[in-house]
Amino acid sequence: MSKFVIDPFYKLPVYGIAQEEKECLLNDALNQLNNHHYKYCQNYNNLIDSIGFSLTVDTYVEQPYVMARLFKILELKSVVAKEIFKQLNSSGTSSQVVSKIFLNAQAAKVQSKVLAKILLDLFERKQLGKQRLPMLFIEAPDIIKNRNSFSARGAGIQGLSFLGRNHTYALNNDMTLNHKAIDGFIEQFQYEPVLIFGFTFMIWKYFIEVLKKKNKNYSFEQGLLLHSGGWKKLQAIAVDNQEFKHQVKLALGNVSVHNFYGMVEQTGTISIECEAGYLHPPVFSDILIRDPLTLKVKKTGEEGLIQLFSILPESYPGQSLLTEDMGQVIGRDDCVCGRKGQYFKVVGRLAQAENRGCSDTFSE
Ligand SMILES: [Zn+2]
Repeated sequence: MSKFVIDPFYKLPVYGIAQEEKECLLNDALNQLNNHHYKYCQNYNNLIDSIGFSLTVDTYVEQPYVMARLFKILELKSVVAKEIFKQLNSSGTSSQVVSKIFLNAQAAKVQSKVLAKILLDLFERKQLGKQRLPMLFIEAPDIIKNRNSFSARGAGIQGLSFLGRNHTYALNNDMTLNHKAIDGFIEQFQYEPVLIFGFTFMIWKYFIEVLKKKNKNYSFEQGLLLHSGGWKKLQAIAVDNQEFKHQVKLALGNVSVHNFYGMVEQTGTISIECEAGYLHPPVFSDILIRDPLTLKVKKTGEEGLIQLFSILPESYPGQSLLTEDMGQVIGRDDCVCGRKGQYFKVVGRLAQAENRGCSDTFSE
């Protein structure tokens, strides 16, 4: 059914729709998903009824939402067991309960297709061409060894790998640098566009800092580094986004660095940091900011909890999630980068929310 919800969105430009029109289109798609999940997911049905949400509404503000942490407590799925094709888990330390996301084949296909569309838009803006790029993962190969049950980190890699070629892992399984692999990669691809991917804290701790200590640096001619994950651990050692970018360039050469924000509960719809340093939700998703105490909607510029919309989730009711991340909408339709729609910043995690950011929970 999501085939019908999402189909018209594929032909839309990823960031070319003004906010007012985007809200109309997304609100309509969200209404269809609300009704679908109400019908096929008993737990969602119970939640909606107990809170008294309406399924068909006129604006984002009235859209029903599910607390993201409920995916840890309840089985939220709108498909029968035999249709489940893949299960995604949020990563966490062994003592934590993880979110379980159930995908059928169609949902998994849609996630990859949308992720590819969002990233190809970025490649185009960076003039990296349309062919698959050599790819360096700042990860250890072990991360994807279990093909049926992926962690968020594994899922990120799996999702991106089909956009690249010559997949190379920069780390050994004990998290030390794999010098042979990195040197081989640079030798072969130093002078052509390359894609580098990893989680923020892991790139810093196991790659940038180690290279620095060893007085080693590389000079890629045209690289794109995509990274995701919390800043909490980096802030604790006084590394901000600017310093991170600076050090990546010192270590790797002409590499443009883009952070992105997304949740395993909404894999596929990531918000990528633009050239001006703001996160832009693609045409398939959007955000709303709510007061953490009253849950009232906040205005542009005010900080609060991030509510995330995505029109992808068809096999589980993840189309409108209240996260435990704090953020603020910066503006709409007027970012200097030229992308249309709302743009935002993530400012941290709700105090008391347990630590579940991807790389932040990497257990040592
Ligand atoms: Zn921008």
